[in-house]
Amino acid sequence: MAHLLRSRTLPAEIPIFNLTRQYQSLKKEINTALRQVYANSQFIQGPNVKLFAEKFAHYCEVRYCIPVANGTDALYLSLRALGIGPGDEVITSAFSFIAAAEAIVNAGATPIFADIDPLTFTISPDSVKTLVSSKTKALIPVHLYGLPADMDTLINIAQQNHLAVIEDAAQAHGARYKNRPSGSIGRTGCFSFYPTKNLGSFGDAGAVTTNDAALAQKIRSLANHGSGRSQYDHTDSGMNSRMDEIQAAILNVKLGYLEQWNRKRRQVAQYYSQAFSGISELTLPVEPPDRKHVFHLYTIRTPRRDLLLNYLKSQGVTTKIHYPAPLHLLAAYQKLAYASGSLPESECAAQEVLALPLFPEIKTSEVRRVCEAIKTFFKN
Ligand SMILES: *Cc1c(COP(=O)(O)O)cnc(C)c1O
Repeated sequence: MAHLLRSRTLPAEIPIFNLTRQYQSLKKEINTALRQVYANSQFIQGPNVKLFAEKFAHYCEVRYCIPVANGTDALYLSLRALGIGPGDEVITSAFSFIAAAEAIVNAGATPIFADIDPLTFTISPDSVKTLVSSKTKALIPVHLYGLPADMDTLINIAQQNHLAVIEDAAQAHGARYKNRPSGSIGRTGCFSFYPTKNLGSFGDAGAVTTNDAALAQKIRSLANHGSGRSQYDHTDSGMNSRMDEIQAAILNVKLGYLEQWNRKRRQVAQYYSQAFSGISELTLPVEPPDRKHVFHLYTIRTPRRDLLLNYLKSQGVTTKIHYPAPLHLLAAYQKLAYASGSLPESECAAQEVLALPLFPEIKTSEVRRVCEAIKTFFKN
């Protein structure tokens, strides 16, 4: 009884994201699009996938977009199409989601983990420079949290060492580096449309973007069982990694809102940053002048992270740690034998980062409550 009374007086929990609100706001459009797919019943390689490929290529300002089954496959297919495999090394960020590292391992190559820049959370070019060897074939920078990596410096290193650059843009739909869209700068750009991404489907989906016609053709083929000119002509041993019509129909509706949603994300981020500007114990996200951040996540850092997390939880504010462990120290990569302390910035970030609630449909009252809770915590 007592706990019932108490829970009734507590304000509603603020989620870190809420997909139901987005569906409610687009219900009519999405249901219409889905009914068309059902009526048409061409569930694989139908008109919606084709349309999405055209629209997303246009959005990313590239010549080609290959819709695939998920973002991890987009990375794997890029590596395969570039001919990267056993004996090759690929450098990527130690502080990220595991997908790029997995794709490298699944392609038969070895991931080499680089450290990050502690302010942007993106791969450190200086760290990359120290890791390039005669075996290095590619570099996968991650535009973490929605902020593009230091692309000109990385492309320079890549050109000097004949490395292919594959952008992991899974968190950066619509982000820009020197006014160029993420996914349009490297040999390929790899996107995920996992439901909670800035552009999300109703299941798994992904895409590869590129300006290279031959590479696009190769990826399209590999993602469709290595298909050749006709149905049972196979020029490669590929895989099944096709985006389906249902996902594409939803993405075609949602793509029309992406810019407006990213604007809203940026506004909320700005509100947070202003509210927290006087808190010396907090390090806030940065947006270098040559880059546009799309705030897939608004991530703060503080040495008192775990205490803050628990306090916010007690106040009904949901937060999340992206990511609690750097990749080089995961059990999955034990065999690579990285020592603790070998990539200090990545290891420190894993101890200090905390993502706050941020999604386009967040209410002003919710944002205010997050701000009040954080200010109260740091007053004490
Ligand atoms: C989500 C994500 C991926 C992988 O996407 P999936 O569609 O889940 O396979 C890759 N890289 C990063 C940085 C991501 O956040």
